[in-house]
Amino acid sequence: MVVCTCGQQAVVKTSWTDRNPGRCFYGCPTYDSKCHFLGWVDASMCRRSVEIILGLLRRINGIGEVVDLFEEQQPKYKKYLIIVWVVCLLYCLTSLDPSTIKSLSGSCC
Ligand SMILES: [Zn+2]
Repeated sequence: MVVCTCGQQAVVKTSWTDRNPGRCFYGCPTYDSKCHFLGWVDASMCRRSVEIILGLLRRINGIGEVVDLFEEQQPKYKKYLIIVWVVCLLYCLTSLDPSTIKSLSGSCC
């Protein structure tokens, strides 16, 4: 059991800093306390691993921003889709030849 500076059982947290992305450490369980205990769980990573993780994090964040933007605009695109369907339906109905409509209605009865 690892105990922090203020005497509580330390908890395992994950660092997301640029120097130690994804590296686990022991920290104080009290959020925002003045106890600045830090004990590394994982060994430090080589520079190349850090660069790769940071690159992947940037990609994930970029994809997340695109998804958020799409979800934000989705209701607007649904409205556009409905409008396009209504316009297409009206166009089809108004462009039909009256004799075609007559033959269609006569074929079912
Ligand atoms: Zn503490």
